[in-house]
Amino acid sequence: MNPPLKVLIHGASGRMGRALLRLCNEEASGLVAVAAVAGSAPRDPLVPGFSSDALDRVPGFDVAIDFSLAEGFDAILALCVQRKAALVSGTTGLTDGQWAALDAAAVDIPLVWASNFSLGVSVLHALVARAASLLPEWDCDIIEAHHSHKRDAPSGTALTLGASAAGSGANPRYASIRAGDIVGEHWVQFTGLGERIELVHRASSRDIFARGALHAARRLHGRAPRRYRFEDLL
Ligand code: NAD
Repeated sequence: MNPPLKVLIHGASGRMGRALLRLCNEEASGLVAVAAVAGSAPRDPLVPGFSSDALDRVPGFDVAIDFSLAEGFDAILALCVQRKAALVSGTTGLTDGQWAALDAAAVDIPLVWASNFSLGVSVLHALVARAASLLPEWDCDIIEAHHSHKRDAPSGTALTLGASAAGSGANPRYASIRAGDIVGEHWVQFTGLGERIELVHRASSRDIFARGALHAARRLHGRAPRRYRFEDLL
């Protein structure tokens, strides 16, 4: 049996980071968390914690899984390039400069960024593109709802769903709701005269994103440097 892959969790004290640490250490995951990094060093009984300003002291790792905030992204990307490690990132709200840095890093390391690591949203992208191509005259609206702590709006997933719709001829508009503890919901609505189609995805647990990211980490390790899509790794 292969030894488990060594994983660094970046953003480890957050909502996603805690789910990743818990699932990563499940016996059957094939992964072992060797470092937990966050704004201030996380305290986990099993995994050594590091603050973001001590990133250069983390032990060797094969893959970093990053669900932090845009302000932490540059440092983890640079560390992965320096250590020749793979990167799985779900951090949203990245700037144009950060997208350019991500593409530049993909020359040196395998990496994947996805706005949403759930299987259901991958399928929703294909459905949205198909509906948009069949309904060129209809209005297309994307409505998303998330918990009140989420910083960026529209969500990264709303924007990538919009890109799928736009790529098939639609001109999407966006609306965002921030309320309570909603994990994540996306409606894509196509409206014609006297009729309407709604395509809806509702996440009720963050574990779906965490499991998708762990799956991507297993599939990414050992691949040639390139920017992969989540769909390439399913
Ligand atoms: P959160 O606010 O609960 O956690 C953020 C984490 O990042 C914390 O551990 C914090 O300490 C850490 N952090 C902040 N600044 C940092 C820095 N400079 N360096 C290192 N770590 C730093 O957020 P969350 O709800 O866990 O979401 C995290 C990110 O993941 C967000 O960008 C969110 O939009 C995104 N997200 C993506 C998906 C997906 O499937 N792609 C799903 C859910 C959330």
